[in-house]
Amino acid sequence: QPKGSAMREFKKSSKLDNVLYDVRGPVVDEANRMEAAGTQVLKLNIGNPATFDFRTPDEVVQDMASQLTECEGYSASRGLFSARKAIMQYSQLRGLPNVTMDDIYTGNGVSELINLCMQALLDTGDEILIPMPDYPLWTACATLAGGKAVHYRCDEEANWFPDVDDIRKKITPNTKAIVIINPNNPTGAVYSREVLEEIVQVARENQLIIFSDEIYDRLIMDGLEHTSIASLAPDLFCVTFSGLSKSHMIAGYRIGWMVCSGNKRIAKDYMLGINMLSNMRLCSNVPAQSVVQTALWGHQSVKDYLVPGGRVFDQRDCVMDELAKIDGISCVKPHAAFYCFPKLDVDKFNITDDMQFALDLLREKKVLIVQGTGFNWDKPDHFRIVYLPRVSVLSEAIRKIGDFLEYYRQ
Ligand code: PLP
Repeated sequence: QPKGSAMREFKKSSKLDNVLYDVRGPVVDEANRMEAAGTQVLKLNIGNPATFDFRTPDEVVQDMASQLTECEGYSASRGLFSARKAIMQYSQLRGLPNVTMDDIYTGNGVSELINLCMQALLDTGDEILIPMPDYPLWTACATLAGGKAVHYRCDEEANWFPDVDDIRKKITPNTKAIVIINPNNPTGAVYSREVLEEIVQVARENQLIIFSDEIYDRLIMDGLEHTSIASLAPDLFCVTFSGLSKSHMIAGYRIGWMVCSGNKRIAKDYMLGINMLSNMRLCSNVPAQSVVQTALWGHQSVKDYLVPGGRVFDQRDCVMDELAKIDGISCVKPHAAFYCFPKLDVDKFNITDDMQFALDLLREKKVLIVQGTGFNWDKPDHFRIVYLPRVSVLSEAIRKIGDFLEYYRQ
């Protein structure tokens, strides 16, 4: 340090001032500190199947092992031909219109591609409609890109479906796009064809791009059907996201993809931007790309978890039963993924700061949840539970939440 000059301090970029990602935020930091100090924490906070004894199908691991020596170099920036071919076939099966091999990009998880799409699209002041509650990466990436995330309400009274009237109200001349998350994190909702058609109609009338995050499209229960919104919108430009993190329990391998479909003529320049950013990151993890074909078209072992007697199905029912025993909590039954988003009755519990509530619950009962405002929900009256842990862990954790809530009862 030169004599007489003040110590230089390095601050984070102001771009990050309004960026929030509480799924791994301060409450989780505290849980990690507690674990490092030897305290066991019941973790209902993160959708990482492998950490709850969900195993990757053997054929996927073997496929990767056998191909590893051929995956030493970079691939094409969009991804390996074999991976994109498999994704192309999958897209056709889901009815995505007008897709060629050049419209498919693999990424280091869907996460990388969400960021890439937001960076390539948004200028300062551009608005993008994002659900509330959301998977907060969407809001974080839109904000980081300089855009303005405008939240539309999903309606708890209507199975957590998007409130289309609210979407209409929030559109301005600056709105460029709408994001939907279907099946949904954190609510577990699977949208009906009717509501998807209404959203398409709004997008059509207002010339919006549709981004559809469908990473849970293969994790559906109760005989429900999943519809890809892009299949209903051949005249609009849509980008559909999915991947293997959840369906194949390989969140750690980092492989996801996005598919541009529909009316690509109107998005020619935007697609050049996407391609530029894709080239700049060279390519996604090549060993993980090498298993896409086997994973997508091989044995779908995840299905066994989603039927009665299967782990995810039974764990979902266990959570619903345990929550129903707590006076003042209600919860819309989730039909997909492995999350639910229970509601705390504000007339019964006096909670004004839900992050503090999550921290206090963690310190007192050693149970980790994510507070509802972490999903950009606008009131401190919800929280998210991940029901990946085994039934015995889940029921103990929810009983502890019930006990803890007695401190707040009014
Ligand atoms: N989209 C949603 C809705 C998610 O819940 C997640 C992860 O939890 C992601 C995207 C990110 O997934 P990936 O592992 O493919 O980056």
